[in-house]
Amino acid sequence: MTNYAIREVDKNLTEIAKFPSGEDTPTEVYRIQRHLEGSIVCTCPAYIANCKHIKMLERWLKLAPSDRIGVVFNDRKDAFFHTITEQQIKELLK
Ligand SMILES: [Zn+2]
Repeated sequence: MTNYAIREVDKNLTEIAKFPSGEDTPTEVYRIQRHLEGSIVCTCPAYIANCKHIKMLERWLKLAPSDRIGVVFNDRKDAFFHTITEQQIKELLK
């Protein structure tokens, strides 16, 4: 299972690091840029408007800032957060 960790570089730029199963160094780092006119662009090869990294970022931004540190996503459809409770996950996935 591939894991992803998110880091906010600044207000409009976020990096998502990709960690293949069992690896502790990322094999890819994708950058997600939020442009002034509102569009969001990811540098991953999918090159689509709403790739899975942008979806992960949207979920991540729903967390309280203090809960964002250390959150890891997997690449299943039901991407989970390992630092929060089942109840919080249910709230986020409503
Ligand atoms: Zn992407």
